[in-house]
Formats: sequence, C-alpha cells, structure tokens
Amino acid sequence: MLTTAAYAAASAKSPLAPHAIERREPGPRDVLIDILYCGICHSDIHQARDEWGGSIFPMVPGHEIVGTVVKVGAEVGKWREGDTVGVGCFVDSCHQCEPCRDGEEQFCEKGMSVTYNGREQDGKTPTYGGYSTRITVNEDYVLRIPAGMPLDRTAPLLCAGITTYSPLRRFGVKADSQVAIVGLGGLGHMGVKIAKAFGATVTVLSHSPGKRADALGLGADDFIATKDPQVFKEHAKRFHFILDTVSAQHDYNAYLNLLRRDGTMVLVGIPDPIPLSAASLVMQRRQLAGSLIGGIRETQEMLDFCAEHGVASDVEVIPIQQVNEAYERVIRSDVRYRFVIDMASLKAS
Ligand code: NAP
Ligand code: ZN
Repeated sequence: MLTTAAYAAASAKSPLAPHAIERREPGPRDVLIDILYCGICHSDIHQARDEWGGSIFPMVPGHEIVGTVVKVGAEVGKWREGDTVGVGCFVDSCHQCEPCRDGEEQFCEKGMSVTYNGREQDGKTPTYGGYSTRITVNEDYVLRIPAGMPLDRTAPLLCAGITTYSPLRRFGVKADSQVAIVGLGGLGHMGVKIAKAFGATVTVLSHSPGKRADALGLGADDFIATKDPQVFKEHAKRFHFILDTVSAQHDYNAYLNLLRRDGTMVLVGIPDPIPLSAASLVMQRRQLAGSLIGGIRETQEMLDFCAEHGVASDVEVIPIQQVNEAYERVIRSDVRYRFVIDMASLKAS
C-alpha cells in the first residue's frame, strides 16, 4: 500500500485536518497519479457535513482532480508516465451494464464508485478524493487534459464544467437560445462560459446584486438581481432554457414562470425538497428536468471543447491549510468563482 498525505473530515461536525490514507499499488489496468490541483465543489461541503445523509467518515473530499501520471500498470494502453490527466466525480463502475456500455457511467446500475464518500466496486473499500497527494485509478476513468490548458483553471472542469456542459448540450442550447443561469458560483460561472461558447444569449439570475459586474465580465449579456420579487413578473416567459445551479432552498415555481412555452428548466443544484405547483409546468407545457455530471466520453468531449474555445474556470488558488476558511466563503456565496487547492502545499507540509 502507498501511505498518502491527505486532508480529511473525521465527522460531520469536525473541520478538515491532516490525515494519512492508504492508496492501492497500481494493478495491471491502473494508473498512479501525482495530484497537482483539486477544486472545491459545493458537493464536498454538503457531504463533509453530511447534509445528504449516509456520509462515510473519515472523508477525504475532492473530485476535480488534475495531475501527472507517475506509474502505469502492465496492461495499461492509454497512458504513459508524464501524461497530464484529470479525474472527476467517479473512479469506477461495473463496465458492463447498459448505462456503462452507453458511456453514461454515472448511471451505472450496480452503482458508480464515486471518487470519495463511496466504495470501490468490491462494495467494501472506501474511496478517498483529491484533497491528497496521489490517487490510483483504473485507466478507463481517467481524462486527457489537452496540451496548453492552464492546470489550476482546468481542475474545476472535471465537475463544474461537465455538470453544466452536459445539460446545455443535451437540451440543444444554440445560437438563438435565450438562456438563464441561476446562481453565479462554481457551476454557474462555468454555465455562463459554456452557454456563451455555444452562441446563446445568456442572462445570470443571482441573489447577490454585487455580482453584476462579474457576470457581465464573464460574458453574460444580462444580469437580474432576484432579491426584488418584481423581476419575476417583468421577465415572465422570457427564456427557452434555465439552468438552476443553486445549492440552497428557493422557489422553483417562480423560476419556472420565466420559461417560454415548451421551455425547459434543468436542476443541477441539489438543495432540500421544495414544493412544486403543477400549474407552473402545465400552463405553458414547460418541462422540468435534472442532470447528473456526465459520462467519461462526454467529459472528454467537454475538455476538448473547452480547450478549443479557450474556456477555463476563474479560480482562487489556495494552500490546503486554508480549506476550512474556503468552505465558509463558499457557503456565504463569496467565491470568485472556484477555490482550487494547490497540492504543493500538502507535499511541503
Ligand atoms: P457554489 O459555488 O456555492 O454556487 C452556488 C450558488 O447558488 C451561489 O454562488 C449563489 O449564487 C447561489 N445561492 C447560494 N445560496 C443561495 C440562496 N440561499 N438563495 C439563492 N441562491 C443561492 O456551489 P457549486 O459548487 O456551484 O454547486 C451548486 C450546487 O450544485 C450544489 O448543490 C452542488 O451539490 C450541486 N452539484 C450538482 C452536480 C450534479 O451533477 N447535478 C454536480 C456538482 C455540484 P448567487 O450569489 O449568484 O445567487
Ligand atoms: Zn462537484
């Protein structure tokens, strides 16, 4: 086993602190990755604080990983030592069921092995995420980082990038689409950039009026501060597509009423249950859908798309020793627009 430095939460109530974990030696189909950067996703906080229930402790969060291949198993065909690679929200799945064969491993019928707070396919071994110096992963669950991408700003693409790219693609957002992105955080700011790269007209809906200049600077065409309830009347039936990235409870019905006839709102934020009025959907034949990250094939497509269009995340790079303060700032919606941990800070400690 490979004893590996990490930061872990010991329980839902404890701050993250230094903790050693054991990684497996790479098997024939595995690669060992030296982690350079790992983004901080709001899902890390939900899970470290057990807000979704069932959390496994100690927990090493982190599923926006970029690093370098330092060792490959004897049968590995795709990767060589020195390759720059990424790991996203899952590290394995059954490889056999229909969703896995379709390249939609996130819906694996046996259950994907999420990168942390989960179990390997043996159903027993806990998984530990990217707030650590290295990780061992089956070669099929590793992504290629296109040459020339800024690595710190690319790490968030592994979750925030694919989670927004996938529904924008799936629901056919294109040049004449009127798109609204709700919530300008890690996911939201990637949604703005990717929807703009698809050619859409993009409006940010935010409960933080102070984000207007940032939203426009990120490429949005318009900004609506949602604190004033009047705006929901003013902008009724304006959008073809709404991507809702908000992590906290809010009234879905109010946002659904901003959709045109046959418009679609996709939820990617995962707050607690919220009452839904049938009329919000029925009256304009609107659709409400959800979306979960994306499969390996589509994640690679997204990385290649971002490389081609010069899309990367806006980040604040921090040493791992500041992770607990970063969590507090994410909760206050005070992140511009993704924290990324420079893992050199853990290697040096
Ligand atoms: P984040 O950086 O914290 O951004 C969330 C944004 O939601 C905030 O910046 C804020 O934007 C808005 N918001 C927060 N509290 C609000 C409130 N009380 N009322 C209204 N708006 C509020 O989080 P993230 O990392 O982007 O993740 C967002 C959500 O997506 C989380 O629930 C996360 O678990 C989930 N997620 C889902 C998937 C998936 O596959 N479906 C993948 C990754 C993450 P404004 O300040 O602009 O209002
Ligand atoms: Zn995430």
